[in-house]
Amino acid sequence: MRVSDMRVGLDIGATKILGAVIDADGTVVAQSRQDTLPGPDGILNTATTVLDLLAGALDGALPLDIGIGIPGIVDRRRGTVSHAVNLGLGGDWFPLADRLADRTGATVIVENDLNAATWGAHVLSGADDLAYLSLGTGLAAGFVLSGTLRRGFHGAAGEIGHVPVDPGGPLCSCGQHGCLELRASGSALSAAWPAQGEVPPAGALFAAAAAGEPAAVAARDRFAAGVADAIRMLGLAVDPAAIIIGGGVAHVGEPLLAAVAAALRSQAAASPFLAALGLADRLSLLPGELPVGAIGAALIRNAG
Ligand SMILES: [Zn+2]
Repeated sequence: MRVSDMRVGLDIGATKILGAVIDADGTVVAQSRQDTLPGPDGILNTATTVLDLLAGALDGALPLDIGIGIPGIVDRRRGTVSHAVNLGLGGDWFPLADRLADRTGATVIVENDLNAATWGAHVLSGADDLAYLSLGTGLAAGFVLSGTLRRGFHGAAGEIGHVPVDPGGPLCSCGQHGCLELRASGSALSAAWPAQGEVPPAGALFAAAAAGEPAAVAARDRFAAGVADAIRMLGLAVDPAAIIIGGGVAHVGEPLLAAVAAALRSQAAASPFLAALGLADRLSLLPGELPVGAIGAALIRNAG
């Protein structure tokens, strides 16, 4: 495979930038990562370091076709981003594509990170009709419907984390009260089961629940019920053929899938209508530690 047939994907997050070189069929040829420095120059410098590491892994030859997934509001046509608060980007449009193109000579496209990960889930799973549910710091979904990425009129398709489910609930960062994200997200899980030592909160909670610790069982089941609520919304609003769970919490693996499937079946027990939808049977997790966001960013040019 020639380098000219490959693409680079950069998954820019608040804590790290993960880069991957992908060949035409989605195979990862090289990977690198660096802790993210905030602000426009920090992001550019970190991305450049990641690209240099990738070039080193390929004997100095880097593909001149770069796709970026980044949080915030993205103007794809201009390759600009704003309101990526955790990255130190405010309301001014930051011309990320042009600035990185100036440094590298590459063609650069910029996409919202959830859209990139959703496209990556499509490539990796082979599913043409799917919802990708990201259980990261927040809760959000992306869609590929009949082979087409659904971004939404305002780019807000799948922002189900901010559907209020408890009008008397706590204030959310979005200004509403009782959003679903406050019950079903990595942040919600950390709040319910604070990290102790090196083990991530999700892993620690599920291990304690598996060991039969009553408080952990209750916290796990409450979390799983919230995720099941999110999946029920996706099933009833969009009815996708596959529902794929990803994001940091998905590293828990099979125990997460089992808990969410059990919650879905419990919700369906009293409703023949819901049971007939078979939502639990549509669930899957992305395999292992694959860099879904970077793979999707590299290949999302195909999404149109
Ligand atoms: Zn909210």
